[in-house]
Amino acid sequence: MLFLLGEKVVRRVSDEGSFHCPVCDSLQTSLHIIDKNYFTLFFIRILPLEIIGDYLECCQCLHSFDPDNTTQPTYIPGLVLVLSYLMLGYGINNSKSEAAAIYKAMTDREYDEQAIQDNIVAFNEGEDLFKTLKRLAFRLNTMGKIRVVEAAYLITRALSEVEYEDRLRVNLIGNALGISLEFVNEIINRIKQIH
Ligand SMILES: [Zn+2]
Repeated sequence: MLFLLGEKVVRRVSDEGSFHCPVCDSLQTSLHIIDKNYFTLFFIRILPLEIIGDYLECCQCLHSFDPDNTTQPTYIPGLVLVLSYLMLGYGINNSKSEAAAIYKAMTDREYDEQAIQDNIVAFNEGEDLFKTLKRLAFRLNTMGKIRVVEAAYLITRALSEVEYEDRLRVNLIGNALGISLEFVNEIINRIKQIH
């Protein structure tokens, strides 16, 4: 007999509230979301596994926030993290203007050079990109994860000819965020169509 086993992420609203959303720049309704992984048998939920996400989401702009820090959407630290890591890899001095342009276009904020510098120092001291991304993923909704992968691909494309290993690195960034290879490909193909 064939058993179809699998896993499925179930999104649950645990609470509703209001907060000052820095993206909308106004008072907005927020949802407290818990993403839980379930073990499935024939696509039916059988057993709850671990909680893989816990964050606030603005009902207007749909960005995710850390419940303990709503001053910026959580994709911004993720974006800064991948930009700094890839700048370090491709050479900091010749990547500043590209990083600044991507940061401004994607966040609609002034380029935060200090945040980039702080991350570069942390990487030089041995911080592990993939472990940090996994930790950040807990506070990111899908839209936020997509933005981090987009930033990783855009800076890679701006600084390299995008060979096999460059593309593999973007896949690994997606993987650390819990995004499948197929979904990473979809995100990249969409960027190629637009730009
Ligand atoms: Zn908002």
